[in-house]
Amino acid sequence: MKYKTITKDNPQNFKVRPNLYNYEAMRKDFKWEDIHKELDFLPGGGLNLAYEAIDRHTKNDKKNKIALIWDGKNNKEEKYTFQDMSRLSNQFANILDSLGVKKGDRVFTYLDRVPELYISIIGIAKTGAIIGPLFSAFGTEAIKDRLSDSGAKVLITSPQLLANVDAVKKDLPELKHIIIVNKHNVPYSPKENEIVYEKAMAGAKTEYNICSTDKEDFSIMHYTSGTTGKPKGAAHVHEAIVGHYATAKYVLDLHSEDIYWCTADPGWVTGTSYGIFGPWANGVTQLVSEIGFQVHHWYDLISKYKVTVWYTAPTAIRMLMKYGEKEVKKHNLSSLRYINSVGEPLNPEAVIWSREVFGMAFHDNWWQTETGCIQIANYAVQDIKPGSMGRPFPGVKAAIINDNFTQELPAGEEGHLCLKYPWPSMFRTYWNKKDLYNSRFKNGWYITGDKARMDNEGYFHFVGRADDVMNVAGHLVGPFEVESALVEHPAVAEAGVIGIPDPIRMEVVKAFVSLREGFEPSEKLKLDIKKFVAEKLDANAAPKEIEILKTLPKTRSGKIMRRLLKARELGLPEGDTSTLEE
Ligand code: AMP
Repeated sequence: MKYKTITKDNPQNFKVRPNLYNYEAMRKDFKWEDIHKELDFLPGGGLNLAYEAIDRHTKNDKKNKIALIWDGKNNKEEKYTFQDMSRLSNQFANILDSLGVKKGDRVFTYLDRVPELYISIIGIAKTGAIIGPLFSAFGTEAIKDRLSDSGAKVLITSPQLLANVDAVKKDLPELKHIIIVNKHNVPYSPKENEIVYEKAMAGAKTEYNICSTDKEDFSIMHYTSGTTGKPKGAAHVHEAIVGHYATAKYVLDLHSEDIYWCTADPGWVTGTSYGIFGPWANGVTQLVSEIGFQVHHWYDLISKYKVTVWYTAPTAIRMLMKYGEKEVKKHNLSSLRYINSVGEPLNPEAVIWSREVFGMAFHDNWWQTETGCIQIANYAVQDIKPGSMGRPFPGVKAAIINDNFTQELPAGEEGHLCLKYPWPSMFRTYWNKKDLYNSRFKNGWYITGDKARMDNEGYFHFVGRADDVMNVAGHLVGPFEVESALVEHPAVAEAGVIGIPDPIRMEVVKAFVSLREGFEPSEKLKLDIKKFVAEKLDANAAPKEIEILKTLPKTRSGKIMRRLLKARELGLPEGDTSTLEE
């Protein structure tokens, strides 16, 4: 079905003048170097994203402006000015210094969305160490893989999550210190090598000399999933702030007076690029909620804090749609002026629905962990074609490339979505996996791993992944990681994992397993296997469905044929099966 284009009014009539006023003109003239002029750089030269996000505002009239509004569990609320964030992150940086943290060390966070998570992240950057945010819903295996691969030296966590850390600590010889944030005052006594955040902060100096990082020094790493192997750490540099700042300004259209809410968790790249750095580099007040998706609470938050710009994800939007317009009407959402979505394809129905119920359409944009910032977007001043991710950001050249990566394909043809590199916020390596990193670049193009097509007006349309990676509610899940967890279950002999379509979460994981001798198929066993994976990885990665087979289809070299499992599951042509084991 073809959806009608949503046409935009003349920007002269907008209540707030959009930062990106004329797409074509900006595309023509855009230079990343010009964005540098809008940043302050460190007093003695150097570029540090913590300074650009927080400290530079303490030198101007934003000093006493609220940087962070925190909506906590049990009706808690806290507010922090840019000055508060600067001071507290200085204190935290001093704690890290006292532990011997040096530039380039990896310091990881494993916390719920409490203010201390944000303070820690800014503090880590100030020391010149590399930030590694872990999603607090991760289980034991997920945190072990990431902490071990990165060689993290310090971990900041909470008493509630400590049991998971304790379970894997013996496999992490490089992890020297654990800092415990006890936000909700639960009974807890520190063990050896555990530092009580609250106590350490009380004794920490409030002044700190920010490490004079170069724009090419590493700043942050996020683990992301691929088809093969365990998740890999996409490492970014301090120059990434140039991309965060520019896209928060020109895509999310942030203005100084905005109250902005990004619903993503900092365990994922959206939660740091657009839940920390980009908006704060623009001096904007951000709302953070500790509480996950709850339809009433979300609408209450928008109305209570008069949120003006909202950045969320398709799964959440589809859940809001499920509750319908009735719920929207119970709240005063008149503060909203601009709404955006990312993480998975935003279905056209969701775009149309949002226009009807909120009086404005969600603007979809596309990017990924490796790109560090938004690359393709819908803009306030541009018409929206529902179902399209929009057009490339002015400093970005995107194209659809053939299978050999030698040629740009004409409008209308499907192919590999590629980007001309470099750009400031692109990742600079996969941690310890330089060859894998290099394999993502060919003939001047960065290969995104997505398939797409471009129409004759330069709008990009997502087609699917070029690999086996699944997208569950906006979170990439690597089949290998799930299969590895599955075969650790005592009953599972072999496992093959695919993504199957889901009306709300886009995809869910389906696992095919064969059982070891002595185990019989049963519903109880399937439940047990699901729980096992959820505890090791996280709920998104846990199979929603498990099918028990006698054997799994394999190539003659013994590789499980996920492609065939998927084709059979979805009733698609099986393709070439000549390599199939007899
Ligand atoms: P991640 O690296 O976890 O942020 O995931 C990035 C991947 O999510 C992309 O490569 C796409 O496959 C998918 N993705 C992100 N945004 C969109 C979007 N707007 N439309 C379609 N897919 C998207």
